[in-house]
Amino acid sequence: MNLTNYHSHCLYCDGKADMDTFIRFAISSGFTSYGFSSHAPLPFNTPWTMEWDQIDNYFAEFRQVKDKYQGQIECYIGLEIDYLNEKSNPASAIFQSLPLDYRIGSVHLLSNDKNELIDVDVAPAAFIDIVTEHFNGNLVEMIHQYYERQFRMIELGGFDIIGHADKMLYNSLLYRSTLLDEPWCRDLVYDYFSTIAKCGYIVEVNTKSYESNKIFYPNQKYFSLIRDLGVRVMVNSDSHSPEKINSGRLTALELLRSVGFTTVVERYNNEWQDVKISLL
Ligand SMILES: [Zn+2]
Ligand SMILES: [Zn+2]
Repeated sequence: MNLTNYHSHCLYCDGKADMDTFIRFAISSGFTSYGFSSHAPLPFNTPWTMEWDQIDNYFAEFRQVKDKYQGQIECYIGLEIDYLNEKSNPASAIFQSLPLDYRIGSVHLLSNDKNELIDVDVAPAAFIDIVTEHFNGNLVEMIHQYYERQFRMIELGGFDIIGHADKMLYNSLLYRSTLLDEPWCRDLVYDYFSTIAKCGYIVEVNTKSYESNKIFYPNQKYFSLIRDLGVRVMVNSDSHSPEKINSGRLTALELLRSVGFTTVVERYNNEWQDVKISLL
């Protein structure tokens, strides 16, 4: 039934419940494999990332939960690591040295023209203000910077899964509705997914915004392209609260299957495995 999720935020970052509660919900919903991926520490404190002094507790609490529910569900520990710059990214030695089962690489932050870091992973209305106030309305430049960061993260490596591969494009569409049909953007997106395919990363279909906005990240428009390029995919809910762990999962699987995907990636016995999509 492909009941798995590897993108999930608990109390160590901006999630709303502890690990035990997430796993209890997962078991009662029939999940067979589940992973935590708190936002990794950045070189400065934020309200949404873990801090370094919490990392030992993160692993300790995970071990407890994993042991407690052994035999009922497979539990895994990961981190969602930002590509911030050359020093702080998924490939950094400090993240590579942690005893993680897997890593998700994501871009949430861009630099404005004053070299201030701006969180662009925000609600649509806030995004429009950010484009105007911090980037002088230059959406194209922002998109280029977003993809430059994604490409550099891919090049440096050190992670398994591309987190919400094109999330900024959805907000960008609200600012400029023709965007995805503009040749430069089409070429950029093609180049991006081709590079991901060449490097062998898993692309998650992130279902976090499906219920509210009927959108997946990557945009469902690109599912066929991703399949044609031979990319392996998994379905993740990026849930911050336990009741959302299953949100959008079935629709994502149906859509993937409708464009020709026959398998999704799931983790068992500590290995990523291609598991047949089997919908009831
Ligand atoms: Zn994220
Ligand atoms: Zn996340």
